Parts: sequence; structure tokens; C-alpha cells
Amino acid sequence: MWKVDDSIALYGIHGWGDGYFSINEKGNVVVMPNKSSDSCVDVMDVIRRLETSGENLPVLLRFPQIIEHRIWEIYRAFTGSISEFGYQGKYQPVFPMKVNQRKEVIEYILNYGREINIGLEIGTKAELLAALTLDLPEDSLLICNGYKDDDFLRLALMFSDKHKIIIVVDLFEEIFDILRLARSMEVRPLLGMRVKLFSKGSGRWAESGGESAKFGLSTIECLELLKILEENGLLDRLRMIHFHIGSQITDIHRIKHAMNEAARIYAKVRKVAEIEYFNVGGGLSVDYDGSKSSGPSSANYTLREYSNDIVYTLQKICEEEGVPCPTIVSESGRAIAAYHSFLVFKIIGKKNSKDGFVAFPLEGDPIQIEDLYFAFKNINLKNYKEYYHDALHYRDELLDSFNLGNIGLEERAKGEMLFWMVCQKAVSLARHAGDNSEEFRELKKLVGQKYIGNFSLFQSVPDMWGVGQIFPIMPLHRLREVPSECGTIADITCDSDGEIKSFAGGKEAIELHKLSRSEDYYMGIFLLGAYQDTLGDFHNLLGCVTEVHVLVEGRSWRISRRIPGDTCEKLLKFFNYDTEAYLQRLGERCATEPQLEAVLEEVRRALSTTTYFNSPCLASETDEDKELLNSAAHRVMIETGRI
Ligand SMILES: *Cc1c(COP(=O)(O)O)cnc(C)c1O
Repeated sequence: MWKVDDSIALYGIHGWGDGYFSINEKGNVVVMPNKSSDSCVDVMDVIRRLETSGENLPVLLRFPQIIEHRIWEIYRAFTGSISEFGYQGKYQPVFPMKVNQRKEVIEYILNYGREINIGLEIGTKAELLAALTLDLPEDSLLICNGYKDDDFLRLALMFSDKHKIIIVVDLFEEIFDILRLARSMEVRPLLGMRVKLFSKGSGRWAESGGESAKFGLSTIECLELLKILEENGLLDRLRMIHFHIGSQITDIHRIKHAMNEAARIYAKVRKVAEIEYFNVGGGLSVDYDGSKSSGPSSANYTLREYSNDIVYTLQKICEEEGVPCPTIVSESGRAIAAYHSFLVFKIIGKKNSKDGFVAFPLEGDPIQIEDLYFAFKNINLKNYKEYYHDALHYRDELLDSFNLGNIGLEERAKGEMLFWMVCQKAVSLARHAGDNSEEFRELKKLVGQKYIGNFSLFQSVPDMWGVGQIFPIMPLHRLREVPSECGTIADITCDSDGEIKSFAGGKEAIELHKLSRSEDYYMGIFLLGAYQDTLGDFHNLLGCVTEVHVLVEGRSWRISRRIPGDTCEKLLKFFNYDTEAYLQRLGERCATEPQLEAVLEEVRRALSTTTYFNSPCLASETDEDKELLNSAAHRVMIETGRI
């Protein structure tokens, strides 16, 4: 008997879910925004309510309370470490805008972190402009990083008496622009210095740190900067030491190393300048594959280990060097934002050229067809290898006969069908036998299913395509049933890269349930809140999906916000198509008025739909609809592709 616990283990939800996700006794995925079952929502309840109100999937579900929980969990880790080691300084968080610039998300972050003065880290002029439009907490920091042109710098200088803006010198030459503009605008800005550490991060973004990093000052440049600031009477305005050795640092040793180096630099500089803030940058990892390892999609440390290492090292070195303890600033982006959103989509069909109609031998069929049928009937745990090899042989013989003109297309088709039926059984027997040999691994891939999901990988999970990152993916329901199929998930773009074919644990296929006539199959891709929201693109003109924000209070929940997805019209406008002019021109091509009306109505209707596949919801269909759908070709394939 397959149990919920089997699904929990199979999909590793407790590994990557970090307490925010689990499966309930009905076999549905649940979300617990405070990591406690006291406050819990069944994702299927949300989906059903959305579909009943006419919402089309895919939908991105956001749980703002998870952002709140993340901010406070990180805050409590640092304050916990501070009191554990008796550190004589404070902690203050900053959210890096490049991780998710959506206004709603930034607003949640600012509001949930208002009490602890959460600030923003900004990397471009547009991000600064965006930040300035928001209601920032009173004492929050606005940290300006990145390449800064005169417009960017003027803006930062102009607002430095209204906000606590720290302009970080990321590249040595910048200091001359800063001095020139500050002088002409008569502003004495607060400054920071980004140091280039010898220590590197680990994982995919290791190159952001180390000697060849894009940003940061070398030791010589740091000393030179101090001299220049002194000469210009601005040394007292240097308030922050900053470093960032890369995102998703998977190995805690790299953090320890970098901290030692950076804390020493702080201590030396603190002797000549009154540095107030020690900014450790981002890099706090998210365990996307749940393996708790130093692999590229994971992390081999906990949040508390991270904060302990930072606080302890800083404490020790400040004591040794006899300098005061600075306020610790961290710029964790991924760790704050990743968990709060996931994509819900439906499987709209399945594709497998090895599926078809079950075949039987008839009088007069070639002997190989009978042999294949015999192999199919009698294959078992003991003989599966031998029978599979036999089947390969019979299939080759059949092909030879066909090429010689001895058999027709019908016999060839029947032979192929029977051959794949043997293969399906052989794969499932090999799995039972724990046979992990190359031969059967390859065969498994070959007979694997391709489930078609109504979403775009390029829009919703760009890092999966761009850098091969793993994201957790799993069915959202039916988790009390055995997932008896195995396969990959293709999206609806016409791009062969639009397919999910690597999964946690190095798997090349994922276990899935058989599709059913009477109920749609819903899946989720999780941990999408960091970077994915704005990195996504419009490949095949598939646009932003509809967003729904859900608040959970005890056993009840409500939709607090809905942001409609892009319509076809919006996408066309974005790429400079003039749909109005087109509609006008249509008049010239239509012979009669009623014909024109009909065409206009159809085009207008299509323009107003979202860009994704518009599939009716099976659960809410009438019997008549179901009848119709079931006769559709792809449904027939689904039903008959089973053995
Ligand atoms: C990208 C970036 C961050 C965020 O890193 P995460 O790994 O998402 O925490 C923080 N600081 C700077 C300077 C960055 O460039």
C-alpha cells in the first residue's frame, strides 16, 4: 500500500521545503507559512476555488507570510548568535533588489521588516528610482552598488539627506566621479568600500568573488581610496566595508574563510576610519534539491551556522585587534525570497511515440509477432533481461523482413507496438529488481513518458534553462496513490530546451501518476521567488502568468490579491505590433458587414485571452463536454497507452 509518507520520501518535500511545505492525509500538498501545522492551507482547495471562479491556469501562487517568516527567521538567527557570543554590536538586514524587483514583493519585504529597519541594496539607476518611490522604513539603509553613471550618482547624492543612502565604491575609478559631483552639489555623502577578497565562494556563482571578480577594490586600491578620502576631507564619511563573494554559497568553509579575511580588513581600516557597518553581502544558500550537500543546488550548512560563523569570527578578530564591533549588515536575497512563490500548472496531455494501441497476434502474422507477444505475456523478474534481448532480436528480424518487402506496414506497426510493450514491462521489472545497469537506465529514458505542462520554462523557471539549476517539482495531489509512470515534463513552447529533464538526486525522470479521464493533473514548481520573476522572458510570446496572493490564518485562508497575467494584446504591444491598425485594415478584406463583425469579434476575443493554453477544467465540465473531450485524439492516446 502506497502511503503519504512514501510520497513525502519520494519527492523529498521535507528536504527542500524547509518546513513550509508538506503533504496532508488527503494526499494533497499543503503550505504552512509559519512552519507550523496550526496555520495551514491545502493547495488543492485554493486551486478549486480559483477554477470555480473561472481562473485559468497556470497561476503563480505567492504566500507573503513566508517572506515575513524568512525575514524574521534570519533576523532571529543573527540576534541569537549575537547574544550567544555576547557580541557588542547590532544586526540590520538589507534586501538586494535584483533578486526580485516586483513592487508587491518589495512592499511585502519593507512592511514585514519595518520594525527591524530592513533596507534595500540597489544595483542600477532604475532600481534606485524604484526604491525611492516606496515607503521605506525610517532608519533603513539604501545601499548603492554596481556601475554608476552621473545620473545615478546625482540621484543618490540628491536624496542623501532624506534617506540613509550609502554609496559603495565598487570600482576604484568611481571615487573621482563621486568627489566631483558631491563637491558641485555640496553634499557630503555616506560612503562604503567594497573589498575584493582573495577568498572565493563556491557553487555556480563562485566567480563573483576572488581576484578576478567584477567588483571590489584590491588591497592597493583600498589604501589609495583611504588616502584620497583623507585628502578630500571625507574619511569621516566612510562608514561601510562591504564584500560579496557570490550567490548561493554552498559550502560553509568558504564563508568562514571569507569572514576571516574581511574581518581583518575591517579591523585594519577601523583604526583610521570610523566604519559603522560591516556588510557581508548575500550568498546565504537555498537547498533546492534538499540534499544538504555542497552540490550547486544545495547547502551544507544551516542558517544558524551561517550567522554563528559571521558573528563569532567578527567578535574574535575585533577583540584581538582591539577595535569596536560594527553593526552587521547582510544582503540575503535568495534566502528571503525563494520560498514564497510557486507555479501551479496542469498537464494537458502526454506524448510518447512508444504508446499506441495494445496489439495482439492474429492468424497469418509473422512468427516474430507471435514471439514478441509471448515475451510480453511471460516476461518476469527472473527472465526480464533475456526476454528483453530476445525482443530486440525479433524486432530487428521484423525490420529486415519489411526492408526486403516481405511484410507490410500493418505487421511492422504491430511488431513495433509489441516490442515497446515488452520494453515497458522490462523497465518496470528492472526497477523492482533494483537493476541500475546502463542498459536499463537508457531503456527507461527511451520508454519514459513526456507529460506536457501548460507553462513556459523560459518565462517561469529561466534559471533551469540558463544555468541548469534544479528546482523542486512534484504533483500537487493524488499523493496517496502509487506514481506508476515515470517521465519528463515538457512545456508548451516550441523549443526542445523547454523541457524539465533533470531532477533532484541526479534523476533524469520523475515519478508521476497515470492521467485520468475524470480529473485534471496538477503540478507545482517550487522555490521560484528569487531571481525567476524578472529573469523570465517572452519566448514564443508566452507572457507573465496570473498571480494570486494567499494569506493563511489558522485553518482559514483568503486570496488577498490577484494580478492578471499578460494578455495576447499586451504582449503584441510590448513588441510594437499595432493591433488597432490591423483591426481597421481588416474591414477592407471582408466582403460583408456580418462577416467583418464575426472576424473582428474573434480577433478581439483572442487578443484579450492570456497567452497560455486555454484548457477547460475537467472537474467542472458537463457530461456532454466530457464525452466530446474523451473522443479527442490525445485522450485516446492517454487511455490506450497503458499496459
Ligand atoms: C546578488 C547580490 C546579492 C544577493 O545574493 P543572494 O545570494 O541572493 O543572497 C547581495 N549583494 C550583492 C552585492 C549582490 O550583487
